[in-house]
Amino acid sequence: MTVGLKTWECMPSVDSAESSANSNSAPSLSSLAPAKSSENFNNLINATEPIASANHSHNISALKKHLKAPAKSGRNHAGAKYLASQYTKLKRAFEYSALMLSIPLIFFNLYFFFFYFDIRKWYFIFPAAIGGILTADFLSGIVHWAADSYGSVDMFLIGKNLLRNFREHHIDPTAITRHDFVETNGDNFAVIIPALGYIAYQFLSNSVEQIMLDYNWHMYLFLLSVFVTLTNQFHKWSHTYFGLPRYITILQDMHVILPRIHHRVHHVTPHDTYFCITTGWLNYPLEKIKFWPTMENMIFKLSGIKPRSDDMKWALKTE
Ligand SMILES: [Zn+2]
Ligand SMILES: [Zn+2]
Repeated sequence: MTVGLKTWECMPSVDSAESSANSNSAPSLSSLAPAKSSENFNNLINATEPIASANHSHNISALKKHLKAPAKSGRNHAGAKYLASQYTKLKRAFEYSALMLSIPLIFFNLYFFFFYFDIRKWYFIFPAAIGGILTADFLSGIVHWAADSYGSVDMFLIGKNLLRNFREHHIDPTAITRHDFVETNGDNFAVIIPALGYIAYQFLSNSVEQIMLDYNWHMYLFLLSVFVTLTNQFHKWSHTYFGLPRYITILQDMHVILPRIHHRVHHVTPHDTYFCITTGWLNYPLEKIKFWPTMENMIFKLSGIKPRSDDMKWALKTE
């Protein structure tokens, strides 16, 4: 972790965009926003140009040129603009449908969990919850790693609908903070539908004895699903530097959910570690055992595919 943090500290800050996107609610940081500083600067130039000396004109044109240079990251990055424009009405409809299906299923299952709750077995809830959190954190790492490292935005079906989000997130890390609840969480609500449907079916079709026998397993599966749905919301909060309710920042500071400083380790080019984004609890142990490089080496040996070539292509896009 120390190595990661050191690298982050001396890298050109990918998260400079973080300050800029949050600058809407933080006037003191607004000067860091490329778009705003460019606008402000042009206003300033227009106001002072009639009285500017020759030297000042030279400096101003040099600065103007600098401000017109392609943004390294943030919402003005050419790749980020294009990727953001690829969010379609159809994708939005899919996300709405996922919410409409999964939220009733969550409450439906919750009702049965309360109905069959046996006070004598209360202590099983705790390991089920911890197991659910750890599994969700691990799965978030696997999906995030696979989507960041392989495939391309041109791929059929998953390219624009899934991988696009991951590419956009690296070149405009705070785009996520401008996404509403549906866009942020729709995909995660979609993936839990089969598990929730399975549990609901078991409650409806099994005998009471069988339901009691399966109760802990189903509770684990249910809590895993809940933590999967919460994952991208926790991730969004880890990029939000202003306006978060106090109880969320306390949970982040206690590392109950993904902390902001912890997730920054992932946002260091080339984005090759700290992929877990539910709580981030597994990031350090997976880093210790070199889990991600081992997986990437195995894939390279088997297929010759290098990780993150598409991600790098988008990062370098200038028009
Ligand atoms: Zn990533
Ligand atoms: Zn992130």
